[in-house]
Amino acid sequence: MNNLIRNNWTREEISEIYNQPVMDLIYQAATVHRQYHDAQEVQVCTLLSVKTGGCPEDCAYCPQAARYHTEVKVHKLMEVQEVMEKALEAKESGSTRFCMGAAWREVRDNKDFDKVLDMVKGVSTMGMEVCCTLGMLSHEQANKLKEAGLYAYNHNLDTSEEFYGDIITTRNYSDRLDTLENVRQAKISVCSGGIIGMGEKEGDRIGMLHTLSTLPQHPESVPVNALVPVEGTPLEEQPKVSVWEMIRMIATARIIMPQAMVRLSAGRVRMTLEEQALCFMAGANSIFAGDKLLTTPNPGYVQDKEMFQVLNLKPRKAHKEVKEAVVAV
Ligand code: SF4
Repeated sequence: MNNLIRNNWTREEISEIYNQPVMDLIYQAATVHRQYHDAQEVQVCTLLSVKTGGCPEDCAYCPQAARYHTEVKVHKLMEVQEVMEKALEAKESGSTRFCMGAAWREVRDNKDFDKVLDMVKGVSTMGMEVCCTLGMLSHEQANKLKEAGLYAYNHNLDTSEEFYGDIITTRNYSDRLDTLENVRQAKISVCSGGIIGMGEKEGDRIGMLHTLSTLPQHPESVPVNALVPVEGTPLEEQPKVSVWEMIRMIATARIIMPQAMVRLSAGRVRMTLEEQALCFMAGANSIFAGDKLLTTPNPGYVQDKEMFQVLNLKPRKAHKEVKEAVVAV
């Protein structure tokens, strides 16, 4: 990391960036983006649910929580071979990162975890960046995943510490931060972001960005999700997030964590091509491809291929280093 990367942002500073006139915000973010990244490049990731539903947690946005009555069908952990086939399919469709998600509260040291380690080993031989999102993780488990070839681990903060209890009661914010620390210590790339549109206030969005940007090391990847309300979950009636709110989040994340891959994640299915283009302009440089994001809908590969053509975007290669800034910010 170079000395232009700051870990001492204050909430006030972040709020000032977030609230500046939108065109100035986009311009600043686009400028920072070009100092650290090739602005034409977008990372294409695929997210596969390897174990679906039946989760004991109570995340208010999630259709996989066992306690909510949603249409999600519970599915036990997939077989390694099946996952390998899906990974190959993702690679052939242009994805360079393959993320496997399991609806677990935490990883347990059992046969299922051994199976996930085999999945990681298998996918890592395919030349893709392998990522997992499996819930809470101990230091030892993080090390085992690293040894198996895991490149990145996703563990979202979701929202601010203050609002967290309104969304999840079965664990707390410090549990999240502990897992992120275990991942970091195991030298696994950190992927952590959140969701907007859950009824949080603007200060909660800024609070979450503040926590992420003041970690000892910024996450290498920051997903910004717009809530996709699912019938049967407590947040089913939440109104749609405006694209301008997404742009403000993306642009602010880009400015305060310049080297991170900022991922335009859930909610893309409800955006037009023009709205997505604005998000890329504001510094987003990563997307999830494939028609499903765990259990919620997402634009298909063909649609994204067309978008890449229209916007002259190109997929980012796997394992590419982020450049140091060439100009002072
Ligand atoms: S978000 Fe993850 S931990 Fe929360 S209920 Fe859904 S699957 Fe479980």
